[in-house]
Amino acid sequence: MNILRVAFDLPLPRLFDYRCADATVADVGMRVLVPFGNKQAVGVIVEVADKSEISDEKLKPAVRVLRETPALGRDWLELVQFCCDYYHRPLGEVVFNGLPARLRRPGTTFSLKQEAAYRLNAGGREAMAQLPLRSKLKHTLLLALSQSDCAEPALLAKSAGAKKALAELRSAGWIERYHPAPGAMAGRFIEKVALNAGQQQVLGEIERHGPGYGVFLLHGITGSGKTEIYLRLIARALAAGRQALVLVPEISLTPRLEQEFRERFPDTPLVSLHSGLADGERTQHWLQAQSGAAAIVLGTRLAVFAPLPKLGLIVVDEEQDASFKQQDGLRYSARDVAVFRARQAGITIVLGSATPAIETYAHALSGRYRLLQLSQRAVPQAQLPLVHCIDMRQHKIEEGLAPPVVEALQARLARGEQSLVFLNRRGYAPVLMCPACDWVSGCKRCSTRMVVPLADRQLRCHHCGANTAIPRHCPNCGNADIRPFGRGTQRLEATLALRFPQARILRVDRDSTRNKGSFSRMLEQIHGGRADILVGTQILAKGHDFPNLTLVAVLNADGALYSADYRAPERLFAQLMQVAGRAGRAGLPGEVLIQTQYPRHPLYLALAQHDYAGFARTLLAEREQAGFPPFVFEAVLRAEAAELKAALGFLREAAKLAGPTPENIALYDPVPMTVTRLAERERAQLLIQSGSRKALQTYLALWSAKLHALPQRDVRWHLDVDPIEF
Ligand code: ADP
Ligand code: ZN
Ligand code: ZN
Repeated sequence: MNILRVAFDLPLPRLFDYRCADATVADVGMRVLVPFGNKQAVGVIVEVADKSEISDEKLKPAVRVLRETPALGRDWLELVQFCCDYYHRPLGEVVFNGLPARLRRPGTTFSLKQEAAYRLNAGGREAMAQLPLRSKLKHTLLLALSQSDCAEPALLAKSAGAKKALAELRSAGWIERYHPAPGAMAGRFIEKVALNAGQQQVLGEIERHGPGYGVFLLHGITGSGKTEIYLRLIARALAAGRQALVLVPEISLTPRLEQEFRERFPDTPLVSLHSGLADGERTQHWLQAQSGAAAIVLGTRLAVFAPLPKLGLIVVDEEQDASFKQQDGLRYSARDVAVFRARQAGITIVLGSATPAIETYAHALSGRYRLLQLSQRAVPQAQLPLVHCIDMRQHKIEEGLAPPVVEALQARLARGEQSLVFLNRRGYAPVLMCPACDWVSGCKRCSTRMVVPLADRQLRCHHCGANTAIPRHCPNCGNADIRPFGRGTQRLEATLALRFPQARILRVDRDSTRNKGSFSRMLEQIHGGRADILVGTQILAKGHDFPNLTLVAVLNADGALYSADYRAPERLFAQLMQVAGRAGRAGLPGEVLIQTQYPRHPLYLALAQHDYAGFARTLLAEREQAGFPPFVFEAVLRAEAAELKAALGFLREAAKLAGPTPENIALYDPVPMTVTRLAERERAQLLIQSGSRKALQTYLALWSAKLHALPQRDVRWHLDVDPIEF
């Protein structure tokens, strides 16, 4: 047993063999340092074997098995093997996709840092007895510690001043900082609220299912208290000594969620995993998950690959969110991989959403997943907002605003309530246009249009990031009167400022939140009541609770109604439901106004009724008739090259290579992609469909092996299984 079979971070569907005298089967899943070309590289040992196909003199010895970090478990290797097979990507790429950066490189060493905790001393108990303390924060901290020991991050999350207060309490000799043994923390759960009848029923149904694999779709309207269900299920898993994995679309946009989790599980080690963490921190968190020390892992899609030896529960919140699908490299769906993990581990997985993905909902209707519903808002006084369409053909629109919207904004200002004007685009004015010759500001590198962000006086392509100066004249005909066309958030902000000079207007979009920390400052500004009108894009639509917000105005939603992308209406519905869910969360009733040319469109009618189920049934009927997912399974082969001809040519050749098409497979003609040019490459794709997932998988496996065997060339290609973008 002295041959290591090693996977590397390479797009090659093969393993590499090395000699290693002291190897044992216990090294499977270990990282290893080996010579590679004229450098050294880190690989992962996938097998330890007796012999190799490579002749002895050609086999190189490994430098060192990196035993300082524990081996990746068998179940983890099985998980990556599943992804490798299902997404038809090389094993090495899948393995390394799952590892944090520090573990992928040679030359870094680690020791697992244990999360610190605090406990109350006798002196502290005495001080508690002599209440009240002058500092409210110190009192809060002592009170928490008087109930049980607390993890350091949970205490730090209480306030910005907590660090200083803890240091002072320590030097007063009232509390003590220590490192608990892994798994020693208690898992105390703060109940905070009593469940309502609907929540109790949902929880009861999941509990009745008992242990073992089960997929639940928790379909609950915004504000129905889905988080409370997750928390109780996690508490149950922790009590059984298991770990819980919670996946959310974008953690950086929901800092309150992590805080809420820490408050409710004050003495439970919790780590987050997302791309916003520094390399070192992310590696630490990953290792804590692997060692079992972290009982709760809260993360974005990449967290689905965290090794979790004691996994007992998975929650995927906002399961319909497109960010769960990775759009480059290993194009996996974290939701689907999570379902695989739940089956592998034989545990419960809960997919939560107010607007489930159509695929997920279809599974729930067919009984493959269990459907659980929460149809009331959890806070007793909170009502669903009233949704009205404003027929733009009936009104004189000024600077993009219909008079009823202006009046509604005025009324909120007069009552001291907040409004959100929702736009689904960024930038000052999406494109620059010449009225004389119809020239528009297209990107030279992509087939998209460049937009004009007001602040930096430049045209910018949101696809590839290209920048150019704003031209003074039309580059085509010389006309000096070229003007911005369309309406972006910056332009709208300027319009609103003119119309409501007394209002405090806050624009929240990707541009205004680019700097670290600026988004959380804006959230504080909103919660503190220091903003009257919010101008926002989808980043405001997700998971925030603004109790004083009573009006949402939607200005430019119509585009998605008649889009070429069959998923556009589903996305629009989800987005509008989400943004509508921001209005009227606490005691105040909410109102949603949608400016549209099509006030009778079924999507808007369903929205006004808050009727997801009805809308989903309509969509499913349309999809069935048109032969779209979930009634068929899809994959696309994409190619990109300097010239479109080359990309299309490659796809044609690839189609021939596939041989005669089996009866249950449909192979379509290659077509240029909707956004054909991206970063100076031309892109085309070829769609493959089948009524049988198994048939599609068999076909793709044979085909991709042939494709990998093709000689290297200037065309880059990849397969995308279950694609969501075209
Ligand atoms: P969702 O995730 O379904 O949109 P949340 O979990 O954010 O909803 O809950 C919305 C609000 O309702 C939160 O402020 C939460 O604290 C509150 N809430 C949840 N459950 C209850 C309950 N049983 N009683 C009172 N308030 C509740
Ligand atoms: Zn571009
Ligand atoms: Zn012109």
